[in-house]
Amino acid sequence: MSADADCLFCKIVAGDVPATVVHETATTLAFRDINPVAPTHVLVVPRSHHPNAAALAAAEPTVAADLLTSAQAIADAEGISGYRLVFNTGADAGQTVFHAHLHVLGGETMGWPA
Ligand code: 5GP
Ligand code: ZN
Repeated sequence: MSADADCLFCKIVAGDVPATVVHETATTLAFRDINPVAPTHVLVVPRSHHPNAAALAAAEPTVAADLLTSAQAIADAEGISGYRLVFNTGADAGQTVFHAHLHVLGGETMGWPA
């Protein structure tokens, strides 16, 4: 899907809003979360606009998989031994930005459930 002019993460992908980019591929961009909840908290987003992970997977399944590949590359670069991946989907789950994004959380020993 093409960029949404009102979408914050489309603006970050376009370079119109600054972000601390830590990894990028032809299909993905990864940057540090502005309000981290773990020592490593990176958001991996598709360059294309989809409102959530399910919509991305339905429309561009290979790009959905690319998010997972990027997450491992980020973990390797950060030197973290384990990480947690989260897709908040829907407002009831706490989704606040409606451009699909994968939270990569790590850098500390994590409890379960959090
Ligand atoms: P959600 O709650 O939708 O799963 O996650 C959205 C995430 O985006 C939040 O963790 C929030 O801190 C982060 N965020 C919101 N605005 C910005 C911003 O302008 N820049 C960056 N880097 N992260 C942001
Ligand atoms: Zn977007």
